[in-house]
Amino acid sequence: MVADKPEDKNMNVLTSTRTIIQNALDKLGYPEEVYELLKEPVRMMTVRIPVRMDDGSIKIFTGYRSQHNDAIGPTKGGVRFHPDVNETEVKALSIWMSLKAGIVDLPYGGGKGGIICDPREMSFRELEGVSRGYVRAISQIVGPTKDIPAPDVFTNSQIMAWMMDEYSRIDEFNNPGFITGKPIVLGGSHGRETATAKGVTICIDEAAKKKGIDIEGARVVVQGFGNAGSFLAKFMYDKGAKIVGISDALGGLYDPEGLDIDYLLDRRDSFGTVTNLFDDTITNKELLELECDVLVPAAVQNQITEENAHNIKASIVVEAANGPTTLGGTKILSDRGILLVPDVLASAGGVTVSYFEWVQNNQGYYWTEEEVEEKLHKVIIKGFDNIYNTAETRRVDMRLAAYMVGVRKMAEAARFRGWV
Ligand code: GLU
Repeated sequence: MVADKPEDKNMNVLTSTRTIIQNALDKLGYPEEVYELLKEPVRMMTVRIPVRMDDGSIKIFTGYRSQHNDAIGPTKGGVRFHPDVNETEVKALSIWMSLKAGIVDLPYGGGKGGIICDPREMSFRELEGVSRGYVRAISQIVGPTKDIPAPDVFTNSQIMAWMMDEYSRIDEFNNPGFITGKPIVLGGSHGRETATAKGVTICIDEAAKKKGIDIEGARVVVQGFGNAGSFLAKFMYDKGAKIVGISDALGGLYDPEGLDIDYLLDRRDSFGTVTNLFDDTITNKELLELECDVLVPAAVQNQITEENAHNIKASIVVEAANGPTTLGGTKILSDRGILLVPDVLASAGGVTVSYFEWVQNNQGYYWTEEEVEEKLHKVIIKGFDNIYNTAETRRVDMRLAAYMVGVRKMAEAARFRGWV
């Protein structure tokens, strides 16, 4: 029954997301039909993608695109390439994208896509075939004013470039605003690659101020060394924090004096693996329970649960991954007075700079890296303050506060449109 496991876990993720949306709508005083509308995506497409593999055989891949809600504007969100991708997960992820967009006040609803495949075992040519085939299959429901894809787990600017090229061929004109996270020469934005990590860094700074922690010398543990985790470790290291623990899919590293992040970044492979080069490693469980000030889960879902939340020693947990803490885990952290910055805020830097990229594409006028950073900074701080103040005044935990902020505009827009 191993094959059922990822699906079950994702069902839990979807169910808990719905529970919090319902609680948030109740607190805001919206009637039941608003929840009935928002608990499911308005559109979900499943596609089959035939690709000729390098050995001459044809393999059929399955992909999904979920559009959660388009009351505010086009839907927006990444496409992940991963063997565990499934319909339920893509649905939940698209709902989270709506919340992120609401929290940082972007004129979008949430979308998400995924293809069941393992890029670690595919050639460049095969990846190009899957990327182009996916765009052909979903071309009717996506576009710069309908639904705008972007990178996510195991997808990058090269994949965005192939997808943009394929869409431009179908559409018969060069259409950079169709997708974000592109290489700079194809209309990508400065600062997009590091945007998620920058957003997390800003959240850590704000949370540290609330807790009276000085970033200089603060002990930070980062779980996951992919796009978000590795850049984040570097930014915090450069700010003078001590990165006492990091991990990747194979194991963790610990040094109470602080790890040499520049060295680790240098040795990391393109999928974020580095711990295989060391003999002295720690387990994932040990990593999460390390003595530290700030813990940043930047890997996968369901990491902080009812089982281990009591043992977390950090004063601040900032969720750079999507869904790393379960509902039960959230309650325990909140009861213990640990300041939790939820995923829908902490990881919103990526979609924020994607929005900047789309705006630049639409106006054909490009901003400097400094301009992007300054704008990102303002947006994330506003989102943080809004959620922190909502949590204080409404006496709810930070996650429920984030959902209240995230869902409010979408519910209002749907009401004005006369949908519910
Ligand atoms: N995949 C990223 C996320 O989950 C970015 C989405 C986007 O840039 O549209 O937020």
